[in-house]
Amino acid sequence: MPVADAKDGSAVPEPGAEGMDRPRSIEDELREQNERFSAAVENMSHGLCMFDADERMIICNVNYINIFCLDPKVMRPGIRFLDILRHSVDIGIASQSAEELYAIRKPYIDQAKASTYEETLSDGRIINISHRPLASGGWVSIYEDITEQRRAERDLKEQHRRFDAALANMSQGLLMYDADGRLIVRNQRILELYGVSEADLPLGMGLRELLERLVRLGVYPPIDIDGEVLKTEARLQVGQTRSTPRQLADGRTLMIARRPMSGGGWVATFDDVTESRLVEERMTHLAHHDTLTGLPNRSMLRERLDQALEDATSPLAIFSLDLDRFKAINDTMGHPAGDWLLKSVAERLRRCLRDETDIVARFGGDEFVIIQSNFKDLVDAEKLAKRIVETIAQPFRDKSREMHVGISLGIAVFPNDGRDADTLLKNADTALYRAKSEGRNLYRFFEPAMDATVQARRALEVDLETALPRHEFDLDFQPIMNIGSGGIVGAEALMRWHSPTRGTVAPDNFIPVAEETGLIVPLGEWALRKACVAAASWPSLRIAVNVSAVQLKSGGFPRSVISALAFSGVPASRLELEITETVLMDESETVLKTLRQLRGLGIRIALDDFGTGYSSLGYLRRFPVDKIKIDRSFIRDIGNRDTAAIVRTVIGLGAELGITVTAEGVETEMQFDFLRANGCVEAQGYLIGVPSKAADIQRLLKSRALHSQTG
Ligand code: C2E
Ligand code: MG
Ligand code: MG
Repeated sequence: MPVADAKDGSAVPEPGAEGMDRPRSIEDELREQNERFSAAVENMSHGLCMFDADERMIICNVNYINIFCLDPKVMRPGIRFLDILRHSVDIGIASQSAEELYAIRKPYIDQAKASTYEETLSDGRIINISHRPLASGGWVSIYEDITEQRRAERDLKEQHRRFDAALANMSQGLLMYDADGRLIVRNQRILELYGVSEADLPLGMGLRELLERLVRLGVYPPIDIDGEVLKTEARLQVGQTRSTPRQLADGRTLMIARRPMSGGGWVATFDDVTESRLVEERMTHLAHHDTLTGLPNRSMLRERLDQALEDATSPLAIFSLDLDRFKAINDTMGHPAGDWLLKSVAERLRRCLRDETDIVARFGGDEFVIIQSNFKDLVDAEKLAKRIVETIAQPFRDKSREMHVGISLGIAVFPNDGRDADTLLKNADTALYRAKSEGRNLYRFFEPAMDATVQARRALEVDLETALPRHEFDLDFQPIMNIGSGGIVGAEALMRWHSPTRGTVAPDNFIPVAEETGLIVPLGEWALRKACVAAASWPSLRIAVNVSAVQLKSGGFPRSVISALAFSGVPASRLELEITETVLMDESETVLKTLRQLRGLGIRIALDDFGTGYSSLGYLRRFPVDKIKIDRSFIRDIGNRDTAAIVRTVIGLGAELGITVTAEGVETEMQFDFLRANGCVEAQGYLIGVPSKAADIQRLLKSRALHSQTG
């Protein structure tokens, strides 16, 4: 058979060069056929080698030579198969001996049986050899380098292994659907999350089937399956990957994220967010509620108010509430009692609300705010306000004690008193402020004029703040006379504010403001020092200085008293501190302790404005004062029989207890005579002397001394 004669460097025979014009002979045909065969062999992508019955090579192609790195010169037709094997061993490409390789092949050659096997070369390449017997005896072998293919397969396998491992170890559940919407992957975790078996979720099922199955198994509560499927498909279509929560029948919540895959289909991952949801809910509750009372807090009320205003079609009433006397209870009975009271108040307020949409919130401290929706006219708001005042006025009974508080309310109405939350809350506060100042335990509706009052008050606060550093304050002194001897025994320091813009402001107009802003502490300290310095030049007089409760509670008060005495050189026994009943009403231990401490230094304590407060006598027992100053309203009314009786009683009481009694506001001889006749110790008032400059007191003392000498 004139087949290929492999030439140097190539196993491809040279094509014949005969012309085409000659008549075609059988030989020609054969030759052509041969050439076509050779060309086909040469152009095939695999290696090929053909052997005759004597195991001699008939033909091989370049690919074959290349795969085994054989020497083309050796690979001539006619070479025996075993010699090829030997050659391959010689050049070091075979990984086994020629005999071993031959032994592997021999049975196939002998049996004339088709077979396929792999041979690994010494360089690691894997060659797939397909052995085909020929009818004429001999065989054809096709060689293919499958190293790459094998590596890819191995890689793929490894990838699969990793994917499986990842799937199995995921904390999330996972379902994967193919482009046809069939379930193709599900991991162990999703079965755990659903509490189902593999058989419950067979691969190949569609989303609808899966949902139906889960509902049937009681994993999902009944759901609108058609809607779910449509929604999911629509989302996937637009490539949305939004996570959606899904509530399971047992109350757990799964967060499901679906992502479309590039080749169609999608992956859904499932997270059990039950715990974090609970925590989250708890956090939002905490963020929106007051921990003590459980009522909504300021931020939540704001949210609800903004919302209510947004879709308000009817009026709304905003109530600003503030407990009366809460601070005293908190201070005297302690914080646990205060907390208990606040909780009880919160509960009562909640019960006062009639409409479900009404909200009561705690704004902090003893402040509350109510939104009353669905109210038709002011009467509705008024009814609620009355109900609240009455309810809170009822005593609060703890196991061991009874507490009494009151509540004041300010009411602003939408839309009349404001259209936004800020304005409404501010105006309700303004009305509350008015209610407080008018006597507490009552309610007031907002009126625009109130706003002006508040504005004026703010302006006053601002002016007052700068008045001290600008030296706008001054002290006047009012003489106090001993009725028996007719001599001036003391002087009371009275503060004056000379404002460049406001003129002289009376203390009644700025002291309360200074008390509220805390300015009274430095201001009072200044007055104390200034009064002591003035008194140093009147060795015979006692100096009386008014002290506010705020000062006494401020902590550093005894120190500032001692410092004023030391600075001026005035002995403690000449200093008299005037306190009001409210100081003693504030039953906190610190105030009493401070007073005792001061008294221990030899300083006298006077109870000012006696008779204007509450149950005055009780307080006398709590703290033994040195002096009582009967309020000038009693002296003014002394012509009245009952008032005269009260004054007489107080004078008698003072004598009995060894307390000096001073009558304030003595303006007439008649009043003076009455006091003298009834044994009142001291008198103070315009009749004796108006509040004057320190120098005038000096002059007064001199003239008196002169008078007593000459008279
Ligand atoms: P107060 O301590 O009761 O002072 C007596 C007030 O009665 C003074 O009013 C005085 O001017 C006034 N007054 C005296 N005699 C008569 C009179 O015959 N008739 C009438 N109608 N009034 C008379 P003022 O100076 O306006 O002080 C008012 C209140 O301001 C004082 O009442 C006192 O509570 C407070 N205050 C004054 N200075 C100070 C101070 O330095 N510190 C503190 N915390 N409070 C002060
Ligand atoms: Mg006074
Ligand atoms: Mg007074």
